[in-house]
Amino acid sequence: THFGYETVSENEKGQRVGEVFSNVAEYYDLMNDAMSGGIHRVWKDYFVNKMSPRSDTRLLDVAGGTGDIAFRCLRHMKNSALPDEHQSGEIIVCDINAEMLKVGEKRAKQDGLELKWVQGNAEELPFPENSFDVYSIAYGIRNVTRIQKALEEAFRVLKVGGRFMCLEFSDVQNPIINDVYDWYSFNIIPVTGKLLSGDWKSYQYLVESIRQFPKADDFKNMIEEAGFQEVHYEKLMFGVSAIHSGFKL
Ligand code: SAM
Repeated sequence: THFGYETVSENEKGQRVGEVFSNVAEYYDLMNDAMSGGIHRVWKDYFVNKMSPRSDTRLLDVAGGTGDIAFRCLRHMKNSALPDEHQSGEIIVCDINAEMLKVGEKRAKQDGLELKWVQGNAEELPFPENSFDVYSIAYGIRNVTRIQKALEEAFRVLKVGGRFMCLEFSDVQNPIINDVYDWYSFNIIPVTGKLLSGDWKSYQYLVESIRQFPKADDFKNMIEEAGFQEVHYEKLMFGVSAIHSGFKL
């Protein structure tokens, strides 16, 4: 590969992902802004608007990290508040990494926001079946070791009628855009990572993991394989990111 990466085993991948996010937790949100020129905010807003959680939605945000999606969902829920009898909604942020959760929890406390933070693995969620109306995962699933297992878990914890929503990097088909994107990914991202956080390897890993993630059509098939129906995807900015969604019917 570009970095001379060796192929890593499943165990090693899990461990490496753990190290990466522990290393970057403090800088995570700043880095997202720096590297995407703020575009990740636009995509996340769009993603949450598409999800449209209401004040009675029970939402599980998996690989929720420092709460970026959950904070947006909470705002959206408040804005679309239903009468008092429909205030049964709840947002749970679940992430495998305690450091990421800690940063988010601190931020929520400062802002007086009510969210639940649960440490857990997307491949083995610590929740009973049929618990949630919406399962969201943003820029998380490519870090999971066994993606199919995570999709099956999403299906299990959702209620019948519940919706799976995933925002993730995807494949860029346009050759010109792809060249620019490659150059940016393999030069700018690790260098910015090094400059801002002193950590080069973590950002090399991030770029590499984006390249190894299944193409949009293949990922759609995997979601269907887990049992979801009405599976669709929408590419954002030529496929730099994509939103996949499906229902448990
Ligand atoms: N969703 C957040 C956002 O959009 O800002 C955080 C995304 S961050 C790129 C990826 C997160 O996935 C990290 O917080 C990492 O700890 C988490 N993660 C990686 N593997 C996981 C797993 N198996 N189960 C749950 N979370 C996982």
